[in-house]
Amino acid sequence: MSEFLPYYIVIYTFVFLFGASIGSFLNVCIYRLPKEESLIKRNSHCMTCGTEIKRRDLIPIVSWCLLGGKCRACKAPISPRYTIVESLNAVLYLLVFLWFDVMQTPIHAILVCLLYSALIVVFFMDWDTQLISNYVVIFIGILAVLEFFFTDKLDYITDANGYGVDNPWISQLIGMFAVSVPLLLIELLSKGKAMGRGDVYLMVACGAFLGVGGALIALFIALITGSIAGIIQKHKSGDSVFAFGPWLSVGVAIAAIWGQELSNLYLNFTGLGIEQAAV
Ligand SMILES: [Zn+2]
Repeated sequence: MSEFLPYYIVIYTFVFLFGASIGSFLNVCIYRLPKEESLIKRNSHCMTCGTEIKRRDLIPIVSWCLLGGKCRACKAPISPRYTIVESLNAVLYLLVFLWFDVMQTPIHAILVCLLYSALIVVFFMDWDTQLISNYVVIFIGILAVLEFFFTDKLDYITDANGYGVDNPWISQLIGMFAVSVPLLLIELLSKGKAMGRGDVYLMVACGAFLGVGGALIALFIALITGSIAGIIQKHKSGDSVFAFGPWLSVGVAIAAIWGQELSNLYLNFTGLGIEQAAV
């Protein structure tokens, strides 16, 4: 490892910078997808004065800091949201590359990075508009298909104790329905008040990516984080209408990296795993 250290530093620096650049594009998606605007045409412009932002002021993270968070032309404050999204995407890419053995499962690492970018868009867009873009869900679905065909899952789905579903493909198929069907029932019974159809589609795609164990862990985390956020929001504003998609995204993001560890922890904690280990 130590003799390769310079190479690792170069790779990780590149991953961070690449993540920040993709984060810049995610800002465009978060802002334009709800309005059904083109993602590629027309340059970014200041929200206050409408001045087109020059190329030198579009460097992710750096430009916002150099300009002190203000528009160069009219000095109106620019939301830190843009820089937060860029930094978050960069840090998550770095985290994925540090967590997975990239040399062994490079395709899986790249797919998880792309999944994280899609989840960032879901998080902020659903937070702002209570909408989950179908394009983003389809994108996650494509990632799930690539995961299905191109990664050798046996390395990381089944751990040393032999826990986990033996056949990862069947796990992915069941994962599509394990969470989405219960959410669909809640949506139908509550007539869309407790759950949106977007949440259902999101969990079809994410469940297919994660497999059944990961999908259930994701739901579990979403329920906990979502409940806490809901209580805080109700306490602060008395408003009980809120989006569940952001918390599903958080759950899926955590499950994508630590799903196996968390489900093993749960199985061991409850004693459900012991019988399996004996077989
Ligand atoms: Zn301006």
